[in-house]
Amino acid sequence: TIEFVRATQLQGDEEPSAPPTSTQAQQKESIQAVRRSLPVFPFREELLAAIANHQVLIIEGETGSGKTTQIPQYLFEEGYTNKGMKIACTQPRRVAAMSVAARVAREMGVKFLGNWGVESGVGYSIRFEDCTSERTVLRYMTDGMLLREFLSEPDLASYSVVMVDEAHERTLHTDILFGLIKDVARFRPELKVLVASATMDTARFSTFFDDAPVFRIPGRRFPVDIFYTKAPEADYLEACVVSVLQIHVTQPPGDILVFLTGQEEIEAACEMLQDRCRRLGSKIRELLVLPIYANLPSDMQARIFQPTPPGARKVVVATNIAETSLTIEGIIYVLDPGFCKQKSYNPRTGMESLTVTPCSKASANQRAGRAGRVAAGKCFRLYTAWAYQHELEETTVPEIQRTSLGNVVLLLKSLGIHDLMHFDFLDPPPYETLLLALEQLYALGALNHLGELTTSGRKMAELPVDPMLSKMILASEKYSCSEEILTVAAMLSVNNSIFYRPKDKVVHADNARVNFFLPGGDHLVLLNVYTQWAESGYSSQWCYENFVQFRSMRRARDVREQLEGLLERVEVGLSSCQGDYIRVRKAITAGYFYHTARLTRSGYRTVKQQQTVFIHPNSSLFEQQPRWLLYHELVLTTKEFMRQVLEIESSWLLEVAPHYYKAKELEDPHAKKMPKKIGKTREELG
Ligand code: ADP
Ligand code: MG
Repeated sequence: TIEFVRATQLQGDEEPSAPPTSTQAQQKESIQAVRRSLPVFPFREELLAAIANHQVLIIEGETGSGKTTQIPQYLFEEGYTNKGMKIACTQPRRVAAMSVAARVAREMGVKFLGNWGVESGVGYSIRFEDCTSERTVLRYMTDGMLLREFLSEPDLASYSVVMVDEAHERTLHTDILFGLIKDVARFRPELKVLVASATMDTARFSTFFDDAPVFRIPGRRFPVDIFYTKAPEADYLEACVVSVLQIHVTQPPGDILVFLTGQEEIEAACEMLQDRCRRLGSKIRELLVLPIYANLPSDMQARIFQPTPPGARKVVVATNIAETSLTIEGIIYVLDPGFCKQKSYNPRTGMESLTVTPCSKASANQRAGRAGRVAAGKCFRLYTAWAYQHELEETTVPEIQRTSLGNVVLLLKSLGIHDLMHFDFLDPPPYETLLLALEQLYALGALNHLGELTTSGRKMAELPVDPMLSKMILASEKYSCSEEILTVAAMLSVNNSIFYRPKDKVVHADNARVNFFLPGGDHLVLLNVYTQWAESGYSSQWCYENFVQFRSMRRARDVREQLEGLLERVEVGLSSCQGDYIRVRKAITAGYFYHTARLTRSGYRTVKQQQTVFIHPNSSLFEQQPRWLLYHELVLTTKEFMRQVLEIESSWLLEVAPHYYKAKELEDPHAKKMPKKIGKTREELG
């Protein structure tokens, strides 16, 4: 067992003696009655009047008050979509965009199947998945998708309202949207701009938008008792599992929400929970274990919203998505290990990595608040009160200050915004990061020496992927291998969820994975998996037999089809390497020559910055340790690991990026020790 001590209380504005949960009662009422019961409803008229009277309105409201699902509907009912005008509501997360759109479609009683091209008034659009049509006037979309809308419609002329939702999340894309929308609003006085956020940061948003008024939706919050562990927990995953069972056995009814950092962790925790419940059998009441994370298929996502059967308890194991983007009814207990997965970026080395880090105090309090929505709740923090006080940052640093900016700079350049140093940022990115992004885009050939977009840069911006991946796709034309490169690109975009490794069949699963290994490296392994799957007729049985995740493959196929559809726009023809994988590897190198490492006496070092890095143990090259390689991404766990690595030859770097590498820096340190060579090397001969 884990010992918790009760320390503080999150104040509520409702009396603690509230009814247990209203979910079951609500189920019986009509969906319209539920709508009327939301905190935003009494303010409907007042809110619409404020929107009518002001071009920009900041809306602040407790999570779950109805901002995301209700306000766009009010605007629809009020006629803001007359004459086919559209309403955009942005979400930082894809799951939220999908799930909210599905909910709103149900509330409005319109058809919504989550399929491509469904003719409906409500839809969503996320990268590689456009579920809207001409008739879709209510559009939920990721903030990144609205950014891309600027490319085709720089003044957003077909939109009457843009609602930037979850603004407090301060994602990179949301921050860039602020600057662009502020500008558009100046020359489109009829455009309405709403900035919606949980109760954080609203004063800053108001100042940024020339002192726009703030509309507050009073919250409905029950007190939440906060408990801390007595001592730090070494293994928070194990501690989570134990605590959930402890809550389940000792606490009165009410569902549990657990915050973990990502899919792998969530799947592991769910498996452990199910395992232990099975072993306890009928000694405990039924516990429904439900995961929710970005790549979860939508039918599984929907399950978290289904009411808990009487007598049972539900535990939802979620990423940050459940912190403010999604509200699950009936949660009384929150279990918070205090971590989240965060990107960090070092502009000096140009290295971006994804790390599990302690969350901020603001974030911890949002999480705790999720326990007090329907009744008085409890939040169990898997860290000490001292750690909360002394080790957590007050707020999370905005993403723009801890990520690479290549993507966004390319987009802004394509929109004709040249002077990035003076772009209207809510918080500016570090100067060095901006500079490095410009340098990288120059090295990739997207910008010329004056910082202007080149023809190739324009094409790169057309593809909805990172500049390096775009470059790789463009380079496949030269090496006549676009068929293979498209597959690699698609597989990379779903990469960490290809192989399935159930606990009870680890050996079989690992054998199956090794069977896909091809000399050359992980990119070719991905290609191999996809090719064999395609040859099986895209069969789910084949996936099952080979320990490959069918839904990841299906997604890769979707992504591949979309990218293929864009090839014509970027003037790349379809061609195959016919088994000559050197060409595929060279095309990949043409995009990723920035991400290279070489083997030295003391392990791998990145070529330019001389950082120490390691091959991920899952890699097909883990045991071979080739001299030169490139990596797709770095992940910092216990060490700086390179994930998805490909063996290359140093001479290729000179071939694909002669402006970036000099022959001298690619000389092999081991070669120097050898007796003087007779004749000239290939490089010296040119
Ligand atoms: P806010 O944006 O202010 O956080 P929302 O509009 O997201 O609030 O949520 C309002 C209500 O709608 C919540 O009570 C939530 O439980 C409910 N809701 C949202 N999405 C779904 C869904 N997919 N299924 C069932 N209920 C949902
Ligand atoms: Mg919301």
